[in-house]
Amino acid sequence: MSDFYDIESLLRPEERALRDRAREWVKSRYLPVVRDHYRAGTFPTELIPEMSTLGAFGGTLKTHGCAGLSSVAYGLLMQELERGDSGLRTMASVQGALCMTAINLFGSDAQKDRWLPLLGRGEKLGCFGLTEPGAGSNPAGMQSRAVARGAGYVLNGDKMWIGNANIADVAVIWAKLDDDIRGFLVNTPRDGFHAELMEGKLSMRAALTCRIEMRNCEGELLPGSGGLKSPLACLNHARFSIAWGTLGAALACYEEARDYALVRQQFDRPIAGFQLTQAKLADMLTEITKAQLLAWRLAVLKDEGRATPAQISMAKRNNVEIALACARTAREMLGAMGILDDYQCFRHMCNLESVKTYEGTQDMHALILGREITGISAFA
Ligand SMILES: Cc1cc2nc3c(=O)[nH]c(=O)nc-3n(C[C@H](O)[C@H](O)[C@H](O)COP(=O)(O)OP(=O)(O)OC[C@H]3O[C@@H](n4cnc5c(N)ncnc54)[C@H](O)[C@@H]3O)c2cc1C
Repeated sequence: MSDFYDIESLLRPEERALRDRAREWVKSRYLPVVRDHYRAGTFPTELIPEMSTLGAFGGTLKTHGCAGLSSVAYGLLMQELERGDSGLRTMASVQGALCMTAINLFGSDAQKDRWLPLLGRGEKLGCFGLTEPGAGSNPAGMQSRAVARGAGYVLNGDKMWIGNANIADVAVIWAKLDDDIRGFLVNTPRDGFHAELMEGKLSMRAALTCRIEMRNCEGELLPGSGGLKSPLACLNHARFSIAWGTLGAALACYEEARDYALVRQQFDRPIAGFQLTQAKLADMLTEITKAQLLAWRLAVLKDEGRATPAQISMAKRNNVEIALACARTAREMLGAMGILDDYQCFRHMCNLESVKTYEGTQDMHALILGREITGISAFA
């Protein structure tokens, strides 16, 4: 009943098989531990090699031993990871969609050969440092600088909100070289590179989010990078994974609320028997169904090489918004139980506040769509 328009029949057998395998893995390996990690503000790093066997890292790449998945299969995998927790899908997006995409698109052959197989197998970990304390929605305002020194480069600057940075073996860092934004690889540990966990997060607690300080730290240029369009090309892949991933969070909340409403009795009947409860479930299922169709079509366009950044913006913006609405409604339907971490909806609700903000805020995606519609940029 969560697949109201029979999306199932649009999927190839291998896509269904991967989705089912991922769903089972999340249920048996991740859900039993997520609550403790969320409370502690930690990530179950011991599960990273298992995530790689699902194709979670660079899954759509067809080279360097990566899984070569269709975009639908990869999307379904992201959906199942985020059914567990946005932090789990974020870990995969940072490693695959951001770090590996940057190396794949802009790295030299030697950089690709060195890093992509190791990152794809989860034997090495990567991060992607774009955001800075003073440059979030406007990354062009970054202060990080690179200067040439000998055969290499030296980086100085600060990054903030960087996923996986404290456990990363390689950091993709965006910095200005002669006023042009370029990508650099920093092999860590490295003198002058310091990453530490950010404290006090009330959202995305089961994910590692860090500040980075770079003080005369050596970096290697990603030779194919140049201009803001380079990090944005990586963000497009990550935004695609969010469009699918948030469906998983929405489905988890919808199913939890539906199951709870069918057993919770008030006024001598299940609360599912009240009209107001049924209207909430009807709204959730309708929005999820629309979001499923958006995500599926986007994936097909992506595989045909026709998905535009604005289409990706629409799917990211819509699917985050509906997932957050589902999480809030589910929490409400569970009454007081909804605030306990015995259930999933409150955790998803808190996480989705981050997902709403990162990879371009909802406002910025509205402006990207506005530019597409009118031909006038309201932000540049
Ligand atoms: C959990 C988490 C993980 C993250 N991981 C990473 C990572 O791995 N790597 C990385 O580089 N970054 C990461 N980020 C950073 C994220 O991408 C930024 O937070 C995001 O781009 C927004 O920037 P900001 O927080 O500085 O908000 P700001 O840009 O300061 O925006 C504040 C508010 O102003 C609004 N606003 C800004 N400009 C405009 C405008 N022109 N018109 C209308 N409204 C506007 C925004 O929509 C927002 O509501 C992460 C963030 C979080 C929360």
